[in-house]
Amino acid sequence: ALMITDECINCDVCEPECPNGAISAGEEIYVIDPNLCTECVGHYDEPQCQQVCPVDCIPLDPAHEESRDELMAKYRLITAA
Ligand code: SF4
Repeated sequence: ALMITDECINCDVCEPECPNGAISAGEEIYVIDPNLCTECVGHYDEPQCQQVCPVDCIPLDPAHEESRDELMAKYRLITAA
């Protein structure tokens, strides 16, 4: 999964770009639900939020490292629901 750092300026550009609905406005900054983030695997070649974030504050989440297979399995779970 990806994560949003405290450099987030709450611009709201990323939220509508997420095909999994994983991004939402948190208490102070935008947040990514690691249970929903597939790093856009299954949808796009590149994470869409990273493409649009004006301050590049959406890195890989070191607490939720996943292989491409794991991300694809998550995508299948989400889309089957
Ligand atoms: Fe924050 Fe970047 Fe999303 Fe804007 S695009 S809300 S700065 S994470």
